Amino acid sequence: MTDLLDVHTHTIASVHAYSTLREMITAAKEKGLKLIGISDHAPSMPGAFHEFYFCNFKVIRRDAYGIDLIMGVELNIIDFAGSTDLRQEFLDRMDYAIASLHDPCIRPGTREQNTAALIGAMKNPKVKIIGHPDNPKYPVDFDALAQAAKENHVLLECNNSSYMPGGSRQGSRELAGELLAACKKHGTMVIMGSDAHIDLDVGNHACAQELIKKYQFPEELVINNRPELLKEWIAQ
Ligand SMILES: [Zn+2]
Ligand SMILES: [Zn+2]
Repeated sequence: MTDLLDVHTHTIASVHAYSTLREMITAAKEKGLKLIGISDHAPSMPGAFHEFYFCNFKVIRRDAYGIDLIMGVELNIIDFAGSTDLRQEFLDRMDYAIASLHDPCIRPGTREQNTAALIGAMKNPKVKIIGHPDNPKYPVDFDALAQAAKENHVLLECNNSSYMPGGSRQGSRELAGELLAACKKHGTMVIMGSDAHIDLDVGNHACAQELIKKYQFPEELVINNRPELLKEWIAQ
């Protein structure tokens, strides 16, 4: 499958990541991507930058780097209603947001609670992607999640880092088939994201690609070969 975009990436502004904005963009260009998105961790993640980091993206000229660039955030979901950790006035000024469950920010709940948290986060119009929804630490009802994602115009992520050997969300690989089956059933679009924390990993979707192929997931439901569609998607 042609793969032209990666919008789940972290720079040094995530503190436990190691490349600058320019280094991430350069890597994306070298790898032949047409669109890169930067999504640093929102303030509840230990060590993450102050919210002011997210309020000045206007200085980052999206057309200055010879590749389509979008600037967003990976929000932390902080309760089972799906609340997140950045003020709406800052969110409104950025291009897109990913919302995810992370252990330092919320303890795992029941399947019902985790599902409600992810669906609640989708209600925020800036949230366009649910990050790594197949993390076994946070069991979810994939059928309900895929249906809600379709209804709320949200993409569900196939997170490459989750599927890598030695990755931080072990067991995700085993759940990917269930996630993809639910998305296929409801016609829900997915997005592959590298979750790169260093320039070397930008655009690395090898494990996600392998699983998409393994489960014969329809290519037309994977947005990664259509940067123009992604730009329209986040603008809606
Ligand atoms: Zn994450
Ligand atoms: Zn991430």
